[in-house]
Amino acid sequence: MVRPTPAASRRIAREADRLDAIGAALDAIRARCDVSARVAADPVGLVHAVRGAADRELAAIVASSLAFGNVKALRAKIADAFARCAPSLARAADDPRALAERLRGWKHRVYRAEDLAGLLVGARRVQVADGTLGAALSAEIRRSGDLRAALGAWTARIRREGGLDRDDGARRGARHILADPEAGSAAKRLMLLLRWMARPADGVDLGLWDVPIDRLLVPVDVHVHKLARNLGFTARASVTWRTAEEITAALRRYDPRDPVKYDFALCHLGMAQRCPSRRDEDRCEGCGIRSVCRHWADPPRRRAPSSGA
Ligand code: SF4
Repeated sequence: MVRPTPAASRRIAREADRLDAIGAALDAIRARCDVSARVAADPVGLVHAVRGAADRELAAIVASSLAFGNVKALRAKIADAFARCAPSLARAADDPRALAERLRGWKHRVYRAEDLAGLLVGARRVQVADGTLGAALSAEIRRSGDLRAALGAWTARIRREGGLDRDDGARRGARHILADPEAGSAAKRLMLLLRWMARPADGVDLGLWDVPIDRLLVPVDVHVHKLARNLGFTARASVTWRTAEEITAALRRYDPRDPVKYDFALCHLGMAQRCPSRRDEDRCEGCGIRSVCRHWADPPRRRAPSSGA
């Protein structure tokens, strides 16, 4: 057996210490996260307010599909959509013609009323056929044995049932409202939906679907991506499926059974800090991962004193 050199042993020990320190920092930010205040400002808070299992999973697929961009604006658009479908998203989706009337004029970024109506109608039809959207996804997972392929089949079915698979030329809202995991992106909005629905109920996530949580990937948004790079979880500059896999693999060290449990606290930390991804005394102040952030790993470089008078 080849023994590592003393220098290599010191490097290995330092790396083990660094990884332990990251784990401790992650646990600390989870413990310190003001869950009820954060849920109230997060799209998932709107899902919590919906009663009834069928309505709730429809609310979750709508809220997660619209979850990008400014959180205040997107929460307002989700709340507006829910109000138009009151008192029941499921019953509203059972009548596509009336649903189109209810949603007339609604829009959010590239999405129009007809995209949202297609999503609701497609999701509702799958829900009615299989009992729940979660059951439909579980069946796909059992069939393919692969989360990405299962999600691809599940989203394609909802798209088909809702008429979102028609090529509408210039507009991309219909295709984009439900992400395609096979396209190579990190499918952040789908992963968010899975986290909400599959992780055990903990005040944030809802624990309604029977999907193995050790298979989930972290929903990588801009905040999580920045923090993950600053922790050395990934070096990738773009957010792809592979990026999500790398970040999840790094988090698996700290909880192999439930690696995405860190996502909510990390994402809200990133939002609160407006992470500059550089050493910045003001904006890094109070950051829960500053002690393990790569930008604070070495003492700041000092400028060489000027030799001129
Ligand atoms: S310490 Fe600063 S740069 Fe590092 S993750 Fe926190 S906010 Fe971002």
